[in-house]
Amino acid sequence: MLNEAKKLWEGVLGQIKPKIPSQNYETWLEPTEGETLTQNTLWVRVPNAFFIDWIEEHYHASIYEILGTLNQEHLKVKYKSVEGGKEKSVPSRVYQPDSSHLQPRYTFDNFIIGESNNFARAASLAVAKTPGRQYNPLFIYGSVGLGKTHLLQAVGNYIKERFSGLKVYYLGCEEFMNEMIDAIQANKIMQFKNKYRRKDALLIDDIQFLEGKEGLQEEVFHTFNALYDEGKQIVFSSDRPPGSLENLEERLVSRFQGGLVCDIKPPTFETRIAILKRKASSTDVQVSDEVISFIANEIRGNIRELEGALIKLFAFASLTNGTIDIDRARDLLSDLLSKNGREVTIGKIQKLVANHYNISLASMRGKRRMQSIVLPRDVAIYLSREYTASSLKEIGKVFGGRDHTTVIHAHNKIKNLLNRNNALSEEVNNIIKSVTC
Ligand code: ADP
Ligand code: MG
Repeated sequence: MLNEAKKLWEGVLGQIKPKIPSQNYETWLEPTEGETLTQNTLWVRVPNAFFIDWIEEHYHASIYEILGTLNQEHLKVKYKSVEGGKEKSVPSRVYQPDSSHLQPRYTFDNFIIGESNNFARAASLAVAKTPGRQYNPLFIYGSVGLGKTHLLQAVGNYIKERFSGLKVYYLGCEEFMNEMIDAIQANKIMQFKNKYRRKDALLIDDIQFLEGKEGLQEEVFHTFNALYDEGKQIVFSSDRPPGSLENLEERLVSRFQGGLVCDIKPPTFETRIAILKRKASSTDVQVSDEVISFIANEIRGNIRELEGALIKLFAFASLTNGTIDIDRARDLLSDLLSKNGREVTIGKIQKLVANHYNISLASMRGKRRMQSIVLPRDVAIYLSREYTASSLKEIGKVFGGRDHTTVIHAHNKIKNLLNRNNALSEEVNNIIKSVTC
């Protein structure tokens, strides 16, 4: 079935090619080849294992959609890598969740701890060790690519491994809704309800998806109550704190706030280095400390992008047997770097917040403590801490030379206010939107 595999894969690639940037196509898909076709599986040969991660992460959905249009929806695509001349068949890692929807690659062991995620990680581990008993619910929030899914999944994997009698289940909020809609249409809402109420630990990711969806909120609320009353563990993640979620019923917000709410911030430089080094050490490719520092310096706010950058360099190095110096890295990562140029900076936050509250930039950055200036300044400090990778000291310096305890104090003050004060939380939300776009 050799030629058929080749032809079929070429057919798939032919349809993907016009949809993605040509540089990506040339790097990731052109070097692949359909190899064998069996009744259920299309085997594709790729140059090395990094390709498998990348292709599955970025093109999985398109590949299956195209296979569907070619009447091959029953097929699974699996990849084989050829490394050092030897053939290695690698099980598909990313998209083979088990019946709990857990992916074994997310663990506490491979979660690098830093100042930015220490709290969320410690809380997650505590919950995993004593499900339903300590912090319930646990609510983790932070912006995209900072490890929320990783932690939820790590909780699930830990519970599954240590407490084999417990039923643990992970899913995205959107998936919860789709299932609910299907159940309603098929008149199977009771089965749906029972399915979730029988879990011992339920991990619901990206709960911000609830915003404005009343029916879904109702169902989450009841599922939550049923589980909570029986002492079952619930963990939520969101891109914002509960008080900043819009169009969310008050009773649900107060449920979220009734347990432990903790945040994950963008990683500091040291944490970024540690993550890159850990990732690099799991491969044969040599990357110099200089290049690692370069990546950590250039890509600040998102760990997924940090990993993506490294994978790209690895793929290049192993394809060409080439070494990677800074110039080469800069060149290969140009698309990622230019995107990070639009990164959130303290300067941008200060300007937008000052504008919003109609105060001058000079007073925002000054030392005066008039009431009309203090709140905007504290909001800007809060956002700087949440949305940039700057240290407490760096933040204090550009807000009138304040010391790090003042920064912590301002941050905590706003954080508490946001959880209680909906009007402020709405205001801050609007500012966040303009800061991050
Ligand atoms: P989020 O759900 O917050 O958008 P993810 O959990 O999907 O982010 O994380 C993005 C990627 O970064 C994942 O591959 C994850 O394994 C990795 N990652 C995030 N935080 C860490 C960390 N502290 N140590 C190691 N890898 C991390
Ligand atoms: Mg996620």
